[in-house]
Amino acid sequence: MHLTAPPAVVWIARKLEEHGFETWTVGGAVRDGLAGRPSGDWDMTTRARPKDIRRVFKRTVPVGIDHGTVGVLARDGTMYEVTTFRRDVETDGRHAVVSFADRIDDDLARRDFTVNAIAWHPLTERLHDPFDGRGDLERGLLRTVGEPAERFREDYLRVLRAFRFAGRFGLDIDEATWSALSEVTDRLRGLSAERIRDELLKVLDTDASPSRALGLYAASGALAALYPELDDFREREPVGPGPSGWDLACAVVDSLPVGNALLRLGALLKPLGDEPAAQLLFRLRLSNAQVDRTLRLVAAPALPDPGAPDAAFRRWLSGVGRDVWPASARLELAYARTRRSLGVDDGADPDAVVGAWRTARRVRDAGPPLAVGDLALDGRGLISLGLRPGPRFGEILGELLDWVLEDPSRNQSELLVERVLAMEARDRV
Ligand code: ATP
Ligand code: MG
Repeated sequence: MHLTAPPAVVWIARKLEEHGFETWTVGGAVRDGLAGRPSGDWDMTTRARPKDIRRVFKRTVPVGIDHGTVGVLARDGTMYEVTTFRRDVETDGRHAVVSFADRIDDDLARRDFTVNAIAWHPLTERLHDPFDGRGDLERGLLRTVGEPAERFREDYLRVLRAFRFAGRFGLDIDEATWSALSEVTDRLRGLSAERIRDELLKVLDTDASPSRALGLYAASGALAALYPELDDFREREPVGPGPSGWDLACAVVDSLPVGNALLRLGALLKPLGDEPAAQLLFRLRLSNAQVDRTLRLVAAPALPDPGAPDAAFRRWLSGVGRDVWPASARLELAYARTRRSLGVDDGADPDAVVGAWRTARRVRDAGPPLAVGDLALDGRGLISLGLRPGPRFGEILGELLDWVLEDPSRNQSELLVERVLAMEARDRV
C-alpha cells in the first residue's frame, strides 16, 4: 500500500502545520487509496477553526462555514475542502448537529464506518486508524464506528450508505451492524426525499455492479420501505425457467456503464411498467425534465423489426422522441444481450436489435419531420384558415403528423392545408 496525495494537498497541510494546526487527510480518498483504487476527493481535517483557515490562505470559499468547512483554492486550480475537527453533540435522526473538537480522535469517532474513519498524514505519511478500518478493508468487512444501533439512530442515512460502500467495495456487512440496520429500515421513510434519492443515484452512478448494493437494499427490507414498487416486482414469481425479472433487471443495470445513473434507473424501472415507475420517480423528486425523460424511456415500445418499412421506424422515433430514442435502443440491446448471456431463450436476438438500431439511425439521418413542431403548418396557419384555437388544434396537428410520418414528402404547406380542409369537411358531415 502506498498513498500519494496531490502536491496541492501536501502544500495545504504544510501551511496549516507551519501555523501550528494539526492537519490530516481523511475519508474517501484514504479509504480508496488503501483499497487500491484511484482516490476521489481529498478531504482534509484540521484543528484550525474556519477563521484560522481563512487567515492562512489567500483564496478561500466559505462552502459550509456552519459545518466548519472552508474551500481552499490551490495553485493547481482545484478547490480542496478543509474541515475543522468536529464531534457530534446531538442529532434528530435526520441531521447530525456538530461542534468543533481539538483532537483528530473525536473527529474520527463521529464518522460512520471504520473504513471511512482512517486518517493519513500527508507530511509524515503516517496512518492514524484507531478503529482498525484498514484491517476491516483487508478482512472485507463493513462495520460501524462504535455501537451500531446508536450510530444508525443518529442518522438513518447511514443504513443506505452501508449498502453503497459494501456494494462498491465488495464488503460483507458485519453481523452486529447488519442486525442493527435491519431493525430500523422502516425509519428510512423519515429521511428527506433528496437524501434517499441521492444515495440511490450514487449507487447507480458510481458502482460498477450496483446489483450487490441493490441486493442489500432488498435483503434488509430497505427496498420494501422506500421503493415498494420495486419490491413488489422483485417478489413476483418468475414466469418461466431462468432468472426472475428482478435478477434480470439487476444484471442489465450491471451491464450498463457507470456515469449514467438515469439510464440505469430506466433499466431497473422498465419492467415495472409506466404507472409504478411514475409513482416512484415523482416520489424521488427528480426534476420534471428527468422524470419526463426517464418515463419516456420506461414507456418506449420495442424497436420495429429490422426489415420493417421506414414509416414504421419514423413512427417509432416520433413516439419515443428525438432525445430519448438512442437510450431506448441501448436498453433494448442491453436486455437482449443479458437475456442471452443468462441463457434465456425467449428474448429478442441481440443482432436483430443492432440491425433495427442501424435502420433507425439511417431513417433519422434523412431528417424527416418527427414532431408536430416540424410540420410545415402550425397553429397560426390553422387560424389563418379560419379555424378557432382550441383542443381541436392538437387533434388536427396530430393527424397531420401521422399522415406525414407515412410519407415525409407530404410535409408541404399547400398539401397540409388541403388535408386540413378535407378533414374539416369530413368531420362536419
Ligand atoms: P464517496 O467516494 O462516495 O464520496 P466518501 O467516503 O468521500 O465517499 P462522503 O459522503 O463524501 O463519502 O463523506 C466523506 C466522509 O465524511 C466519509 O468518508 C465519512 O467519514 C464522513 N461522513 C459522510 N457522511 C456521513 C454520515 N452520514 N455519518 C457519518 N459520517 C459521515
Ligand atoms: Mg467524498
